[in-house]
Amino acid sequence: MRLSAYRIAANKHRTTQILDITTQSATVKTYTFKDKECAKALPGQFLMLWIPGIDEIPLSVLDVKEDGTVFIVVKKVGEATEALHKMKAGEIVGVRGPFGNSFTLKKGNALLVGGGTGITPLLFLTKKYASKANRLVFVMGAKTRDDLLFVDDLEKICGKGNLIATTDDGSYGMKCLATTPLEVLLAKEKFDTIYTCGPERMMLQVLNLAEKHGIAFEASLERFMKCTIGLCGNCMIGKYRVCIDGPVFTSNQLKEVKAEFGFSKLDFRGRKIPL
Ligand SMILES: Cc1cc2nc3c(=O)[nH]c(=O)nc-3n(C[C@H](O)[C@H](O)[C@H](O)COP(=O)(O)OP(=O)(O)OC[C@H]3O[C@@H](n4cnc5c(N)ncnc54)[C@H](O)[C@@H]3O)c2cc1C
Repeated sequence: MRLSAYRIAANKHRTTQILDITTQSATVKTYTFKDKECAKALPGQFLMLWIPGIDEIPLSVLDVKEDGTVFIVVKKVGEATEALHKMKAGEIVGVRGPFGNSFTLKKGNALLVGGGTGITPLLFLTKKYASKANRLVFVMGAKTRDDLLFVDDLEKICGKGNLIATTDDGSYGMKCLATTPLEVLLAKEKFDTIYTCGPERMMLQVLNLAEKHGIAFEASLERFMKCTIGLCGNCMIGKYRVCIDGPVFTSNQLKEVKAEFGFSKLDFRGRKIPL
């Protein structure tokens, strides 16, 4: 396999200083740093962040600025993310990327469906998309109010009436899963594209609804990633390597891997495990 010059530059390991850290919730923080390569990222692309002495992990890009500033969101779930949560502004991390493909900006009415930290690439998408789309409606779901991220930012971009929030415990918005208001919305309004990122079982239900209503669909997937250049095969879903063929997939591609999408993934040793 030949690597393009773009991929070689992206894959070079750089170090950078954490410039700013903001606490979003009890388990989620946003980080700011400068990196010229990653600042070229498009919505849906991800980077690899190296936490010295611990691990290197894939993270979606939340936003970028022309001066090379990059924003990411990190949920504390295990060893590497816990270590990152303990780090302070001024400390050094490593970075590679950006990697993968991006969401396609299409004209017309767009419906975005995000769950948990899956909001991250979708918020980046809404920022890029706001001036192009006729209408943007965002449905976001989380376990509790504390887990609903960037509500104010999304309201500002999409307009208050165009943001529908759901929580499992009813602590904010509607007490239901994010997919419940979707059925009502799709029955009364016409959308041209649905974009989604979040728990895979949620995305599978969104895919089924998109198919039922004949709407173009793009979903961003998470898999265990190591090399991020398509060599190790740890992020395979069917015939696809999520790190280079994705992370964004269309409904046609996901139909080809329907035995796995929403059902199973490979663990860090390459064994198939249920989702
Ligand atoms: C394309 C992509 C984009 C992502 N974007 C974000 C994001 O914006 N914000 C965010 O908080 N998280 C994101 N993740 C998930 C993030 O990579 C994991 O939460 C992180 O790797 C966990 O590392 P850990 O050492 O803290 O946890 P561990 O103790 O190693 O594992 C905890 C759980 O994290 C997941 N995980 C662990 N290692 C990896 C890996 N190398 N690749 C994928 N998943 C892994 C597994 O589900 C595992 O059960 C993304 C993952 C992918 C693949």
